[in-house]
Parts: sequence; C-alpha cells; structure tokens
Amino acid sequence: MVNYTYNDIILSLTDKLASSGITNAHWEARELAGCACGFNCRGRFDGKTLATDAQIKQCALLLARRLTGEPLQYILGEWDFCGTTFEVGQGVLIPRSDTETLIDTALKQLGGEKELTVVDLCAGTGCIGITLEEKLNCKEVYCVEKYDTAMYFLNRNIEKHSSQVKAVLADVCDPKSTELVPEADLIVSNPPYINAEDMQNLQREVRFEPKEALAGGEDGFDFYRAIVRIWKDKLKNGGTMMFEIGAGQEDEVMEIMIQSGLKDVRVRRDMAGINRCVTGKRVEQEGHVNLYEQLDKK
Ligand code: GLN
Repeated sequence: MVNYTYNDIILSLTDKLASSGITNAHWEARELAGCACGFNCRGRFDGKTLATDAQIKQCALLLARRLTGEPLQYILGEWDFCGTTFEVGQGVLIPRSDTETLIDTALKQLGGEKELTVVDLCAGTGCIGITLEEKLNCKEVYCVEKYDTAMYFLNRNIEKHSSQVKAVLADVCDPKSTELVPEADLIVSNPPYINAEDMQNLQREVRFEPKEALAGGEDGFDFYRAIVRIWKDKLKNGGTMMFEIGAGQEDEVMEIMIQSGLKDVRVRRDMAGINRCVTGKRVEQEGHVNLYEQLDKK
C-alpha cells in the first residue's frame, strides 16, 4: 500500500489535468484536492498530511468529472463573485468576473442614493441582486428567475447571505411578470445574449451550463428587445436600466434603448477593456404625458 500525501495528490492531479489540456492545471489541482480531502487549499495546510483511502477515492472521482469537461465551479459547488461565495451547480449560470462591471457601474451611478428599489431580471444564482443589496442602500431587491433549477440556487444563496432579497419565479419576457414587482430605481439584467452561431461553438465547459441562460436568439438580442419593451415603464422617473452585454453588442443594445426613449444611454468597459455594461435612464418631462392626453381629447 502506497502512502500519498496531499502534496503527492496535488502533483498527480496537476499532471493529469495538464496532459488533458487544461490550463491553470496546478491551481485547479489544488482546488480539486482541497475540495475532495476537505482542506483549505487557499489558506495554510500541511501538504505532508497523509491522505486516507476515502480521500484518494474522492479525488479520483472529482478528477474524472473534471476530465469530462465539467466546469470546476460545478464540481466545487461554489464560486466567488465580488468577494463573496455563491452556491452553483448544474442548472444555473456560473457567476463571471465580467459581471462585476455591473456592480461597479451601479455603485458609481447610484452609490449616493437612498432607499432604492432594485430588480434583477434573469437572476440565476442571484449574484447581482444579492451583491447590490449588500453594497447599495436598498429598500428592497427583487430577483426574477424563470427556471426552477436556477431558483433552487437563488434561494440557497439568499439563505447563505442572510439576504432579504425576494425571489420571484417568472418569465421576464411575459408582460404579466411586471405585475409581481414594484416600480424600480434600478432594473439590472445579465440576460442570455449568445447568438445562434456562437451557441454552436461554445467552449467545452460552457456547454455544461444551461443553454436557457446563454442563448439570446438568432442574433443574440432577443432579451434586450423584450426587456426594454416590457420593463422600461416599470422604472420610476429617473430610474436606470442596466445590462451586461457580450463583446461587440454595444451599438445594437444602445440603439434598442435609445429607440425606446431611454435617455443618457452609456456604455462601460470591463477589466479586459471590452464594452460590457450599458445603462440608460427613464426621464419623463414634466407635463409631457398630460400634453398628449390633452391632444387626444381634441
Ligand atoms: N458571459 C457568458 C459567456 O460568455 C454569457 C452569459 C450570458 O449569456 N448572459 O459564456
């Protein structure tokens, strides 16, 4: 019987991951070993500790899953977003660091305001809504999600963060869903936005994620069109609509927002320099609505 230490296991996993073409093999090996053996691979641990048979077996199981292409995040069962940890698993989109751009933008634009009502559409894990509840001065936050599998993780994360966020099971493309939430100061969404062609060429790991959270229709813009049309009147006067977008989608999404009458439409880059976040405001001029009502009567 050979004795394996945590360090031996990490080296062996690194080897197998690297030879299957996984980049960051050593880092992933530490994460897998820590998860399988129950040590904190990001903190201090004694690499000379001998692993038990059960731990070695568990490592082999997790490695086998990873070698099929399953994302590391699903295997670990959790992933960090904006410095806190969210539960993830099959059936929900994994939080991406790109999406932290939305949080930064919301803090910049609304950081000084009080008693905000925030609605997060296509909420998935709830990483956006739950983080905004923690970082902004919120009166209430609603996370709207269509799928039960994602809703499971949303509820788990609300509990994990001792959050007051209200989870709403509804289809954001159904106009009736707007009746389930109040008028908002901020409507934020990271909707599915990958076009039909790119859906055919997804990275191996991304293919494990729910296509409902990725596919934005033939041209990728279905959800922007639907959300802007259905939800813009749910903004309070002066309220902000904010989207994550895919690389190269800024012109079309800004156009959709401008055409719908949203004002002050802007785009912001992520840390990689890619335009990632588009915002616009609902600005109703005083007396504007009344004027039309009067014209109608004539
Ligand atoms: N950013 C994700 C990806 O590139 C897509 C998420 C989405 O469609 N909202 O895989």
